[in-house]
Amino acid sequence: MKEFDYIVVGGGSGGIATANRAAMYGARVLLVEGQHFGGTCVNVGCVPQKVMWNAAQMREALVLDSRSYGLDATVNQFDFKKLVANRDSYIERLRGLYAKGLASNNITVEKGYAKFKDKRVIEVNGNEYTAPHIVIATGGRSRFPDLPGSELGIDSDGFFALDSLPEKVVIVGAGYIAVEIAGVLNGLGCEVHLAYRHDRPLRQFDETIVEAMLAIYKQEGIKLHPNSVPTKVEEVANGQVTVSFDNQIELTADKVIWAIGRVPNTDRIGLEKVDVQLTKEGYIEVDEYQQTSQEGIYAVGDNIGKVDLTPVAIAAGRQLAERLFNGKPTAKVDYTNVPTVIFSHPAIGTIGLSEAEAKTQYGSDDVKVYQSQFNPMQYALQERKVKATVKLVCVGPEERVVGLHGIGVGMDEIIQGFAVAIKMGATKQDFDDTVAIHPTASEEFVTLR
Ligand code: FAD
Ligand code: NDP
Repeated sequence: MKEFDYIVVGGGSGGIATANRAAMYGARVLLVEGQHFGGTCVNVGCVPQKVMWNAAQMREALVLDSRSYGLDATVNQFDFKKLVANRDSYIERLRGLYAKGLASNNITVEKGYAKFKDKRVIEVNGNEYTAPHIVIATGGRSRFPDLPGSELGIDSDGFFALDSLPEKVVIVGAGYIAVEIAGVLNGLGCEVHLAYRHDRPLRQFDETIVEAMLAIYKQEGIKLHPNSVPTKVEEVANGQVTVSFDNQIELTADKVIWAIGRVPNTDRIGLEKVDVQLTKEGYIEVDEYQQTSQEGIYAVGDNIGKVDLTPVAIAAGRQLAERLFNGKPTAKVDYTNVPTVIFSHPAIGTIGLSEAEAKTQYGSDDVKVYQSQFNPMQYALQERKVKATVKLVCVGPEERVVGLHGIGVGMDEIIQGFAVAIKMGATKQDFDDTVAIHPTASEEFVTLR
């Protein structure tokens, strides 16, 4: 049996990060990956999604906005296949870069699916490997609803596998993925129906910002179907499908896309052979140091069900390697105030507490909110205005900023720096004392009254 210092199961965001960091400190590392290096983010997540988002932004700028700026542009054709081919070859290049990085750190790679044999041993392709430290970084996969005909729908992986642009889609779900794919397909010229179970999607985010997004989606032609729970899907003529909802709505489209959340990849890795506790939803229970209930076994990334974001998985993986192989016994990730962007159209950026969360945590009397809605200068010349909204949530007499939220063009790039300020405990006065950059959308955050 081959021995290593560290075995990493899963070569996605968290796995690659922890493997590379550990190897840099001289650990003998084995990385096992069942599919492609880069995991969800690179192959069927952040990367292809951002490319599609860019494509939709470009089309909108050309088709909807360029004329007002004097550009008499005509789009002769939209070659969806070319977009997909270029996107996929970019992904291929990224996989190659990951492979090179692993090789340059002398990491041993085994392609295949790993299963635990016991607490120190895994099996892959009939080979057994042992190490005193094993990290599970197996990520997650889409959840499909349990209803008749659900297999007629596709998930986000299926969306990225499309080789032609559907004319009409129904998207069912209420999270990042539903909202993002709705924005992309609408931006690319498809008829989009977005159906969600409650009165609004993104219920864990600040209501003001989500309401602003819904107003924009409506204005831009997305058909919104609130309070709609899907009950069945049936195949109809021409390969189309009809989705029925509990409120008697029936929608017929070329595709139905499920975006109702994800489940962790923890059910097929032999955890019954080890003493790793799972939550009732199947996530791996870990302490603040990524330690599972089984000594020597750790977990990072989407399979712990904390914050399902690539930079979080990377940070957790690196901190774990620092702790195990660089003599830093207290190294760990701070899961609070993680900035995040929803690549809706336009993007939503958010850090910290929503107004509702702040009021629950600190009491309504201690929370003060500053917000503003405006037309970004990008839309100054055209009739089409896509409004931006920004909001600060402050607490206590010193008005410490505990939440910063915005929707608008460029919000994806605006909020990273503000995340530093919030992490450092900035107050509203600190924001007021910062001189604005004009004319930008970001200046609104430091000029709120
Ligand atoms: P993954 O990246 O999923 O990697 C897990 C790897 O483990 C996979 O490669 C899998 O093949 C492998 N594996 C599983 N089981 C085994 C086994 N038994 N043996 C060997 N290998 C195994 N996050 C962002 O921060 N920004 C975004 O813009 C963003 N966009 C997203 C868009 C979509 C459509 C999706 C689905 C997700 C998006 N995310 C985004 C989330 C992000 O992709 C995940 O948080 C991140 O990939 C989690 O990393 P991970 O290492 O936990 O798992
Ligand atoms: P999310 O968990 O974000 O949202 C799924 C939502 O779907 C639920 O919150 C729920 O909302 C609704 N839902 C659940 N079950 C059903 C059902 N049976 N029928 C109808 N609706 C249902 O999942 P996603 O798959 O969108 O994304 C997974 C994670 O990946 C995200 O949370 C995020 O962390 C990450 N991600 C990050 C991105 C980024 O950084 N830009 C982009 C994409 C993904 P409700 O209860 O309101 O109905």
